[in-house]
Amino acid sequence: MAAVLLDGDKLAAEIKQNLSKEIEDLKARGKAPYLVAVQVGENAASRVYIKQQQKACEDMGIIYELKELAVDTTQEKLDEFIENLNRDKKVTGIILQMPLPAGLDARRVQVKISPDKDVEGMHPVNMGMLVYGKVKVAPPTALGAVELLKSSGVSIKGKEVVIVGHSEIVGKPINLLMLNSLLESATPTVCHIATKDLSFHTKRADILFVAVGKPNLIKGDMVKQGAIVIDIGINRVPVLDAEGKPVLNDKGKPKKKTVGDVEFDKASLVASYISPVPGGVGPLTVCMLIRNTVACAKNQ
Ligand code: NAD
Repeated sequence: MAAVLLDGDKLAAEIKQNLSKEIEDLKARGKAPYLVAVQVGENAASRVYIKQQQKACEDMGIIYELKELAVDTTQEKLDEFIENLNRDKKVTGIILQMPLPAGLDARRVQVKISPDKDVEGMHPVNMGMLVYGKVKVAPPTALGAVELLKSSGVSIKGKEVVIVGHSEIVGKPINLLMLNSLLESATPTVCHIATKDLSFHTKRADILFVAVGKPNLIKGDMVKQGAIVIDIGINRVPVLDAEGKPVLNDKGKPKKKTVGDVEFDKASLVASYISPVPGGVGPLTVCMLIRNTVACAKNQ
């Protein structure tokens, strides 16, 4: 039987509806959420994310301001810029767009952002709260992946959870979120590039999160019967015709489509629930950024 699809668009719409009530309430109390995004230099990938952020904030009635700094901004100038935003009372949230130009130390800047305005949950204080199990804000993609899992209604208590990918924005925080409750935690295992036998781990996962960035890394036969599969990967791959040749667009260039890290067609025959790409974790990432923004505004 085919797996049930975990619909990220539908869930994001429901969460946003609840958040919009909280935003109205904050505005009524004179605490309007005000998000500032800091972009240093130019980067095509972060442009896409900025547009998504801008649209989501506009839709939700959150003030969004993009501050564009020159590519040759020094570390000291960037630190100073962030410190001014920290002091600015009307600013309730700060996002540092990644990647920074070569020569700038992103970690140093992330630590400068006030933990109270850290809408991406990257400050060590907020990471530490995650370790304590007291989540105020956390990296949006990790939160989104866990919200999508929760939407299945299946309890994680005692489940074997395998997380493939150990980045600070996805795999590591998901691992901590799986351990958040004293008595209801899952039993997570984190796999990564140095894991010796990946399929040994994935095949015993009741719940499988994948965040790597390699199309078809997880084949259908690497998924346990009845597992819940949350595919976080985003990959652009060529569209192929029935003979396996690339399909060209009207400009004569190969047509591309977005896929995850999981061999979706085969895995969905085995899994009980599966998240699609696109339309799974993606819509929830921006939604969780808004939730963090609201949480930060509330705390100020
Ligand atoms: P990253 O490059 O920081 O981390 C990749 C991880 O994959 C590392 O932990 C690495 O050890 C692991 N890895 C690499 N090859 C592996 C292999 N063969 N077997 C097992 N593990 C392996 O990437 P990231 O920023 O965490 O992003 C991962 C993916 O998630 C990317 O496709 C990215 O585009 C996507 N992503 C999606 C969203 C979203 O909103 N849906 C947000 C962020 C990232």
